[in-house]
Amino acid sequence: MTRMLAVPFLILGLTPLQAQTTQAQSTQAQTTQAQTTQALAATAEGTQVADAGVAARSFTEGDKTVSVTAPVRIGDDVTTFSLDNGMDVVVIEDHRAPVVVQMVWYRAGSADELVGQSGVAHFLEHLLFKGTDKLAPGEFSATVAANGGSDNAFTSYDYTAYFQRVAADRLPLMMEMESDRMTNLKLSEGDIVTERNVILEERNQRTENNPGALAREQFMAAQYQNLRYGVPVIGWKHEMEELSLEDALAFYGLNYSPNNAILIVAGDVQPDDVMALAAKYYGVIPPEPDLPPRLRPQEPPQTAPRRITYTDARVSQPYLVRSYLATERNTGDQKTAAALVYLAELLGGSSFTSELGRALQFDTQTAVYTSAGYDPSSLDTSTFALSVVPGTGVSLSEAEAAMDKVVADFMANDIDPAAMDRIRNQMKAREIYALDDVQGRAQRYGAALTQGLTVQDVEAWPQVLQEVTAEDVKAAAAEVFDLNQSVTGWVVADKEQAR
Ligand SMILES: [Zn+2]
Repeated sequence: MTRMLAVPFLILGLTPLQAQTTQAQSTQAQTTQAQTTQALAATAEGTQVADAGVAARSFTEGDKTVSVTAPVRIGDDVTTFSLDNGMDVVVIEDHRAPVVVQMVWYRAGSADELVGQSGVAHFLEHLLFKGTDKLAPGEFSATVAANGGSDNAFTSYDYTAYFQRVAADRLPLMMEMESDRMTNLKLSEGDIVTERNVILEERNQRTENNPGALAREQFMAAQYQNLRYGVPVIGWKHEMEELSLEDALAFYGLNYSPNNAILIVAGDVQPDDVMALAAKYYGVIPPEPDLPPRLRPQEPPQTAPRRITYTDARVSQPYLVRSYLATERNTGDQKTAAALVYLAELLGGSSFTSELGRALQFDTQTAVYTSAGYDPSSLDTSTFALSVVPGTGVSLSEAEAAMDKVVADFMANDIDPAAMDRIRNQMKAREIYALDDVQGRAQRYGAALTQGLTVQDVEAWPQVLQEVTAEDVKAAAAEVFDLNQSVTGWVVADKEQAR
């Protein structure tokens, strides 16, 4: 099982070419790569039996034959299958507009980096926009744009992903280019120097110039004593400065292979057509035989509360954050994570109705802002976090005591059934609206499949959320509120505020 970090997550990503979307990230898990692959295979086989009549297929590409597993249909509009080189494919049909999103997700993020090379996953993400044998540096994105599309990429702890959004008839061209850079990347020392300066500048802008982000790095490093979630996705500056061509190529060579990748195609497409295209462009790429299992160091038992005071003159308003290790969604076992989603809503969801909002912002003016955060999506252990910005004249100690009292009262009292119903209905509405966003759906699958879950887990999640009971929430809360697994951070401008 795993948990996630809810608080201040760091996310990174985006190419400098068209920086737009940064993907927030959430997560960590303990599932090994081997387990993930087995789970996917097991599920597909299981369903295949029920779907008798849908056969595996093979395609001939030049002198190669590419076999594809029998497609498995999930729900109304999702189809999944695997190529014989190990690449998993998910097709999400949405025929409302003649548009398609292609995403390729690698099961390789910053938490998969070698020790001493923090930031290399994100560095490589930038470098993927350099050239290949067929494409000059920058030509990838220029071609997407010339075809009326947009593209980008993002990196997180558990994955690196690339995507293009184009007219549906341009999908073959996108696959041709994306499959090309999976194996044919050409990098020069000049690319390394240039792009290393870009990522260092990115760190300056996102982190060094942002006291909240610097504080977050300190919290995360204290929260995780062994897992690589304690290392920032963008990397520690002193290690980023040393990233070399060899480092980037080593990470690329090992991790960028079809057996470590998931192709998601969402939009106005037919699964059969995607299958043929995927076989043609990706199926001919040989798998990486030395792909290591995704074995990550796990947390030891955490046996002492940690406290941090981060002082930075640029902090405009002091605040406090408490984060705890928290279980994340695991395959076939998403109940605790679902209960923690409710817990976050109950404690800090709405400032009008949540426990923290009512007690600290309305009944008293102890705080001007409160929140609770939990991200259930993570390969390894996540976090659950509470934060409070004290009101005028309220010290951080007073605010922290008030926050602790809210939690203690919550644990001592029954949960209001009306509050459970309200959240349940919100979740239902949220899941229905989410169906409207095809790229968002693609991201859900990509994140889940790189974080140890299966397509079936993704499909089951809304129902798991609906079935959460007040008892489940209480049990999850009792497990998560363990001070020995917590970090309490105060963020202040000067010593005066640290009281
Ligand atoms: Zn970047």
